[in-house]
Amino acid sequence: MKARLLVAVLLGLVISAQPARPPAITRALVGGTLVDGFGGPPIQNSVVLIAGEKIAAVGRVGQLAVPQGAEVISTEGMTVLPGLWDMHVHTMIVGHADYGHWDKAYFNQFESVIMPAAAKQLLSAGVTSARDLGGPLEQSIAVRDRINAGKIPGATLFVSGPFIQHEPYPNTEAYRWGVKGPDDGRAKVKKIADAGVDVVKLIDQDQMTMEEVQAVVDEAHRRGKPVVAHSHRPEEIRRGLLAGVDCFEHTGLATAPAYPEDVMAMIRERTAKMSLGPLFWTPTIEGLLNYEYLRDNPEALDDPAWQADLPAGVVADIKKSLENVDRLPYFQLTAARRPTLATKFKQLREAGVVQLIGTDSGIPMNFHTHSTWRELDAWVTGMGVDPMTAIRAATYWPSVAMKVDAKVGTVSAGKDADIIAVRGDVMRYIALLQRVDVVIKRGARYK
Ligand SMILES: [Zn+2]
Repeated sequence: MKARLLVAVLLGLVISAQPARPPAITRALVGGTLVDGFGGPPIQNSVVLIAGEKIAAVGRVGQLAVPQGAEVISTEGMTVLPGLWDMHVHTMIVGHADYGHWDKAYFNQFESVIMPAAAKQLLSAGVTSARDLGGPLEQSIAVRDRINAGKIPGATLFVSGPFIQHEPYPNTEAYRWGVKGPDDGRAKVKKIADAGVDVVKLIDQDQMTMEEVQAVVDEAHRRGKPVVAHSHRPEEIRRGLLAGVDCFEHTGLATAPAYPEDVMAMIRERTAKMSLGPLFWTPTIEGLLNYEYLRDNPEALDDPAWQADLPAGVVADIKKSLENVDRLPYFQLTAARRPTLATKFKQLREAGVVQLIGTDSGIPMNFHTHSTWRELDAWVTGMGVDPMTAIRAATYWPSVAMKVDAKVGTVSAGKDADIIAVRGDVMRYIALLQRVDVVIKRGARYK
């Protein structure tokens, strides 16, 4: 009896030690040209097998068989790519021109209506991951977690929670936290890190003491959180570089023609240090480049896509706020900044920073459904960036910047099945990304 029990136990051990059967292939994308995100030549007649949430295998028609029972999605005539990332979005805003009014009127709907609508709009535009840089703490985390748990559809969000800065502007205390001394800086970072943010966002760090900036960056790094810094002013960049910020945002310096030489020298000093990893920069140029175009060709402002999941009253309010954009103080300097962008963008590139696709989407006239493809288009057709570099700046590199490149960011076996497909040749006509035909996130098809 005892011996039999022992045999049974041993048999049980043997059985449980068998390798798990590979999960069944649920979907297959077959036929399209695959740009996998690694930078090599596109793979013609590709086959991508998806098992549940993951990519199981990648190959070519005739070499990689599609198992029976899998749903076959033909990608013939299409470009297949990793799901896009937008590294600078604001889900708490959706294009309204008056921030003061927006906060007052809609703050209590951010978590229930506005942020979910923004995240879903991003997803419908092929953006499967987005970095949300500045929002109320609990609401940001709650919306991110509801998406991750599959309760609501939306781009996977990497959230910063509140801006960390010298002093919140009046009536923005819910999402801007001031820092009074280095200890307070560490305490604020501890609080948002304990709450579960993915990244720390600094702004106005030129108004903080250097000790405060350093405390914020060090505490964030101690907790494994990358630090992103607003960089509209030269001193914001200098302080950020001195403190060890990982990623800078915007192509700033107002209407100044170029970054000053001392700043460029600091950037080159930083990019020369291999052991520190890449220095990331999200130039967010499309809003500035396209302002005059949209002012004069406002048809896109009527596109129902950006209105999806927003209550009619909110849509009407946004439209009204954008009736006379040429009179808005927000855009006063935009036209004058536009001609300086190419020089600054090129300076950063030539200094060796790794530029990332990000848009500031949510700002006036910049809807979550339209910003990301426009940024890619601005890089390729406006700045002369080759399409592969632009696409990798929206796929592979963002996943590296957020330290999740082992999990997502490329179309390769073992990664999350975040994949888009677009009819036509995206490598030749980048603006095709404005109409994404297939959107798959974590193996589930949304479009
Ligand atoms: Zn922003």
